[in-house]
Amino acid sequence: MAFELFSRFKESLHRTRKGFIERLEDLLKKKLDPLTIEELEELLLSADVGPSATRLLLDSVQKVHGRRDFTGPEESRLALKERILSLFPEEGARPPARGDKPFVVLFLGANGSGKTTTIGKLAKRLIDGGHKVLLAAADTFRAGAIEQLQLWGKKVGADVIAHQAEADPSAVVFDALKAAKARGIDHLLIDTAGRLHTKKNLMEELKKINRVIGKELPGAPDESLLVLDATFGSNALVQAREFHGAVGVTGLVIAKLDGTAKGGSVIAIAHELKVPVKYVGTGEGVDDLYPFDPDAFVSALLDPS
Ligand code: GDP
Repeated sequence: MAFELFSRFKESLHRTRKGFIERLEDLLKKKLDPLTIEELEELLLSADVGPSATRLLLDSVQKVHGRRDFTGPEESRLALKERILSLFPEEGARPPARGDKPFVVLFLGANGSGKTTTIGKLAKRLIDGGHKVLLAAADTFRAGAIEQLQLWGKKVGADVIAHQAEADPSAVVFDALKAAKARGIDHLLIDTAGRLHTKKNLMEELKKINRVIGKELPGAPDESLLVLDATFGSNALVQAREFHGAVGVTGLVIAKLDGTAKGGSVIAIAHELKVPVKYVGTGEGVDDLYPFDPDAFVSALLDPS
């Protein structure tokens, strides 16, 4: 699995690696004078690693270079890799798992980020693993969102609880929770709106959905996953902070990693938000969702071949 992840991440990072990897090789071989440091800084920023993480990475490279027993470029690369790994937050202390079914996952994210597609892919993964999955179409605002989720449900073999367009999303969630309990569902995946008339409305509605879930199943949702579009790079941070502030995100899904040259933003975003990356989307296909593995990701980004 680790090797498969490494290959998939590397394939997905092809746009980020293009030009980046040769340049990195060149720079790591050079004497670390101020010009080289500046070039290295520019290179990391161009991959959207972000100013704060870039500074920390440069410090690490400078530190190993300064050591008397410094052996060469491989050691610099290793220092970079280790420092990046340290920037990925660990899974924080979580309240003890409820243990009761269903495991409730709330999906959050702006329109177009890849939320519905991610729900479909995750449902497929869970169903393949022998779990009973139910989907809830609580994005009742965007035209076509309900039908899109129903299409995914059909494709992967999961039932979808839906009301009419414009219906109260909390009512959909309430019905979905009841249905999930009655049917002995293992995982309930809830789609939510990415946009309402105003941003304030959206955040208030998400809070309300959260409250409804918590009232019906104390301790739930078990996971609140924020889906971010990798092609936005670290520009997605502002948006991410708003969702996180409103409902407390427990994990990130980075969708469309295959479509971006800003793959370094995965580091910047995880580091800045202090929220673990849980999954990465590597394409539009039903199987193109992988659990995030920091080691595989960092090697896929920085290893020369
Ligand atoms: P939503 O509005 O957040 O529900 O976004 P959608 O799930 O409808 O996705 C928006 C677009 O992004 C669709 O065309 C998807 O096929 C595409 N998409 C989603 N995830 C990925 C991914 O990992 N890779 C690529 N290349 N495209 C993706």
